[in-house]
Amino acid sequence: MSEVTLESLVSFCKRRGFVYPSSEIYGGLAAVYDYGPYGVELINNIKQIWWRELVYRYDNISGLDSAIFMNPRVWQASGHVAGFSDPLTECRYCHTRLRVDHLLEGVGAEASDTMSETEINQLFDDYRHLVVCPECGHRDFTQVRHFNLLVHSNLGNFTGNDSNPVYLRGETCQGIYVNYKNILDSTRLRLPFGIAQIGKAFRNEITARQFIFRTREFEQMELQYFVRPTNDLVDFNLWKQRRWDYYINILGIDPANLRWHEHEKLAFYAKAACDIEYNFPFGFQEIEGVHARGDYDLTQHQKFSGQELDYYDQAVDQKFIPHIIESSSGVGRVFLMLLNEAYHEEKLGENDKRVVLKLKPALAPVKVAVFPLLRNKPELIKAAQEVFDQVKMRWRCEFDDNGNVGKRYRRQDEIGTPYCLTVDFDTLEKGTVTVRDRDTMKQTTVQLNELVSYLSSKLDY
Ligand code: ATP
Repeated sequence: MSEVTLESLVSFCKRRGFVYPSSEIYGGLAAVYDYGPYGVELINNIKQIWWRELVYRYDNISGLDSAIFMNPRVWQASGHVAGFSDPLTECRYCHTRLRVDHLLEGVGAEASDTMSETEINQLFDDYRHLVVCPECGHRDFTQVRHFNLLVHSNLGNFTGNDSNPVYLRGETCQGIYVNYKNILDSTRLRLPFGIAQIGKAFRNEITARQFIFRTREFEQMELQYFVRPTNDLVDFNLWKQRRWDYYINILGIDPANLRWHEHEKLAFYAKAACDIEYNFPFGFQEIEGVHARGDYDLTQHQKFSGQELDYYDQAVDQKFIPHIIESSSGVGRVFLMLLNEAYHEEKLGENDKRVVLKLKPALAPVKVAVFPLLRNKPELIKAAQEVFDQVKMRWRCEFDDNGNVGKRYRRQDEIGTPYCLTVDFDTLEKGTVTVRDRDTMKQTTVQLNELVSYLSSKLDY
């Protein structure tokens, strides 16, 4: 288990402006959160790095931004209207609603996503005597019911009848599947190729006790990689490796805090399915799914839409429905993982300590802070302002002249700023600034005319 507690991360996020409960002045809204001034910077960096590492790195991957609202038939074809549900039980004592698959996991049993209500009830009955309510410790539960996770809207509904609602999308990948033909027609992409998308998804999650780990509104980063049917397990293993390496080499996660979870019970259409799990303060939990989905998704959309979604492979003069390898992760879960990984409380000497976020520079919300050594010397303030203006359009920067320099360093360490620049009398006389490194706390003198290239050698990745 990692040493940082969830409570310390929650209060840190609130105090330093990373994450706030949604509409807090009205008492909040369960399982919905807002990202504050530093949170939004970290979120943008997470998304930008993901985008670059997929869409820019591989010339056979293109991007997409599809709408949140879709024709409701999409969700019938995908199986979400009938089957996108979690098994729910209620504690008869404290009335907490609980996910039965999670309760079963806690006692060493595994439920599959595809179990019917009867099957999951049977399984739960076999283990019920071992399960205790995590809220009140009692052992008295109601029958298991499937609870559909799709969120309804009243878009375009002027009658008040909710029988055929327009949904808020439950996952972003359906927007990719229904655009696959458009993208084939309007680009020169040929198999194998990928379509990447980042966007909001909505789920009526039953349990929501783990901060931003499980929210009802969240963002997904999804790659759907279209491959020849004969090649899908090769491509599946390729993407497993690429995604694993991404977390370690690009995001800087300690491999000891990551592990694979292989699904034992696969959905009937799936060829293989694995999740990457991270060691959160509440144990190892999923951050990303890497799945070989076969031809299920496109076949379903072909059937329901009546449109041909097959692919003509010139090389072998054959038509077929491509198979799909999916990589799907959540921005909020990556955010929480990164904070957990980066958050350190360090002892400095006998009576001093600092909180420092050891984020990779590319992820840090603020890259550079600029300080005038003294706030009552107008010539220092002016010179510091000039330095700030020189760098602020290139990186997210902060100007701080509040309190002594030591306090300013602490404030920046806490939010993970890799470099602090102090403008002092040498700046006025010799044209230099003092650059202080977050991790080593060492100071270097840099000539002003070399400052931008010095910083870019450290910050740009
Ligand atoms: P879980 O089993 O934890 O509910 P899932 O298997 O339903 O997750 P997927 O449908 O495979 O998740 O979604 C892919 C990714 O989207 C997950 O790995 C996760 O990072 C993210 N995700 C899914 N649901 C949520 C949520 N409610 N809040 C935040 N992120 C989520």
